Amino acid sequence: MSSGLTKLINNAVPGVAKLHPYLPGKPVDELARELGLDPKDIVKLASNENPLGPSKAVLTAIEAELSELTRYPDGNGFELKSALSEHFALTAEQITLGNGSNDVLDLIARTFLQSGTNAVFSQYAFAVYPISTQAVGADLNIVPARDYAHNLDAMAAAINAQTRVVFLANPNNPTGTMFDVAEFKSFMSKVPEDVVVVLDEAYSEYVSDENYPDGIELLPLYPNLIVTRTFSKAYGLASLRVGWAASAPEIADLLNRVRQPFNVDSLALAAAKAALQDEEYLAASKELNSKGMAQIIQALEARGLGYIPSKGNFITVDFARETSEINQSFLKQGVILRPVANYGMPNHLRVSIGTQEENQRFIDVLNEMELDG
Ligand SMILES: *Cc1c(COP(=O)(O)O)cnc(C)c1O
Repeated sequence: MSSGLTKLINNAVPGVAKLHPYLPGKPVDELARELGLDPKDIVKLASNENPLGPSKAVLTAIEAELSELTRYPDGNGFELKSALSEHFALTAEQITLGNGSNDVLDLIARTFLQSGTNAVFSQYAFAVYPISTQAVGADLNIVPARDYAHNLDAMAAAINAQTRVVFLANPNNPTGTMFDVAEFKSFMSKVPEDVVVVLDEAYSEYVSDENYPDGIELLPLYPNLIVTRTFSKAYGLASLRVGWAASAPEIADLLNRVRQPFNVDSLALAAAKAALQDEEYLAASKELNSKGMAQIIQALEARGLGYIPSKGNFITVDFARETSEINQSFLKQGVILRPVANYGMPNHLRVSIGTQEENQRFIDVLNEMELDG
């Protein structure tokens, strides 16, 4: 490297060189190329995607939009915001649309964090929180988990004068753990009003627990709360990249200033609106998930394997030993799971809930596997 380039690299925002890039689940086509397999014989249970495939209403909405591809999308997302505000009893001024909710998380970091400040989040929390925080040169204030779950008391205690943002994932990924409404309210009562609390509810649609704190319902109580939701999981639009935040209008106004003007494309806007209105699809997603969760848990218990009880559309399995070889064996059999060693969980693998047949493929490979010694 030339000395100029070395200097240039060293001038990067502090924290960027140290951040660990996001490790996505292995794509089906990549494994097919590597092992010479037919993509149709591969089952991907690695990215918490919706196994139902896209809803018909979504495909129709996209088709209707195709003739307008030469135009820029509506940078304000008027129609999607109207649909969201009606559906969730919000005003459009409370909404920030993102290119996936990851984009919204990034907007929050860019709006409130900088060098000399920190973001609080839990050990084993979603990998995007450290990335977005370090990318703007802010410090990570990571709080040890309790039984793989957020320790909210410890998180409140970790907030200091430099803290600007707290990231909470409920349910959390990759652990599937949930905190309840009483725990959340107790936590909020300890957070200074000038610290932003981000409640990441990417999996909220799957939760049936009556004590689940619905962030959107709780928004009126907490002016410093930002709730993020996504169309990537239960709504089945992971590829199109649509997520959103609900917050006080004053916060949304800031986020919308930082946002790229056309961060959600027109196909995604149309698809998300259609997905929001397709209640049958959402209900089918939830039902498939709860049946699949029961199917996989039964198999894990039969095999004597531990797991972290999950409220999401995935379950993280404890193999009680380092899992690289186990993961490789699954890959060789055409089953893609998600290693979580990068989260500090080398003995676990995360399994997304698939269709009944996909789950059975996982179970069959698991049951043929030697796990002793
Ligand atoms: C999947 C996921 C998201 C959603 O990401 P998108 O960018 O909306 O696809 C957000 N938070 C958590 C914890 C997730 O697991």
